[in-house]
Amino acid sequence: MIIVMKRSATDQQIDAVVQWIESLGYKVHLSRGTERTIIGAVGDQRGKENLRLVESLPGVEKTVPILKPYKLASRESKEGNTVIRVKDVQIGGGTFVVMAGPCAVESDEQMMESAYVVKKGGADILRGGAFKPRTSPYSFQGMEEEGLKLLKRAREKSGLPIITEVVNPADVDLVEEYADVFQIGARNIQNFALLKEVGRAKKPVLIKRGMMTTIEELLMSAEYILSSGNSEVILCERGIRTFETATRNTLDISAVPVLKELTHLPVIVDPSHASGNWKYVRPLAKCALAVGADGIMIEVHPDPEKAFSDGKQSLKPEKFYELMEELRLMEKFIMKETVVVQ
Ligand code: PEP
Ligand code: MN
Repeated sequence: MIIVMKRSATDQQIDAVVQWIESLGYKVHLSRGTERTIIGAVGDQRGKENLRLVESLPGVEKTVPILKPYKLASRESKEGNTVIRVKDVQIGGGTFVVMAGPCAVESDEQMMESAYVVKKGGADILRGGAFKPRTSPYSFQGMEEEGLKLLKRAREKSGLPIITEVVNPADVDLVEEYADVFQIGARNIQNFALLKEVGRAKKPVLIKRGMMTTIEELLMSAEYILSSGNSEVILCERGIRTFETATRNTLDISAVPVLKELTHLPVIVDPSHASGNWKYVRPLAKCALAVGADGIMIEVHPDPEKAFSDGKQSLKPEKFYELMEELRLMEKFIMKETVVVQ
């Protein structure tokens, strides 16, 4: 349930409401907007009749039940959009953020070269997987901690923040030491133990829609992280599995405006895993900008033919530079869709 405070509500009145809600066993999520404070009370539905009595406390304007199953992710629970700050980068703040880099960290040379290219092209965040969730146990599984160390070195050299995947709840602390943003991959989107663990961490989390996950299920996964205490969640549409076989997955571009309507969280698009083919990355990346996404995540490799994973969908440096130029040009002419679709 949402408790909307009066514009005139004092800090003491807000504190009193928070204490009262907590005494009923609910978790409190405070959202101090420019206009007024909204207090989310999340917990067991059974006590909701008692909770409604909060309306009689001073400073409370009204209570509003959140009808959606994803309470904290829902637009109802927050005024405006969530903007996530990663060093100097703002995700969800109106500029189109580009996260780029190789699928996997493969060697010192490959990672330093990738960082150089990504930085030169003007990307905001460097990606690279040290733990790789692979369909086959015989495929390259990632360099693990060694890979994290290379990512750290790449960050030092390029100045770019790092996003990297965590696949195991037991590795969350380790990955947190190195990463600026956690990535939860499509295959782990309903690994609830992992979601709760990153929910307790202190770094933002990008979650990728699973190939068989509905938009509502994706938002429920975000809810696991939010309700565990981490309010910094970024959603990523990376293609879903359909009957179509011409592309690796089918990019569900309509997920972007749908998510923008339903949630205050930033939404980005991954055209590399969606298409599985570098040739389609450029048009789909431009499409993401046009449709109102907050950014993209793309795979770029200094030598895709030699990549240990996802070489087919990775852009060569020259192609990446061309795309970045086009995106920056487009960004000047496209009005950012920040208004919620009614
Ligand atoms: C990746 O980003 O390299 C990856 C494994 O992506 P996904 O989880 O979307 O398949
Ligand atoms: Mn990949």
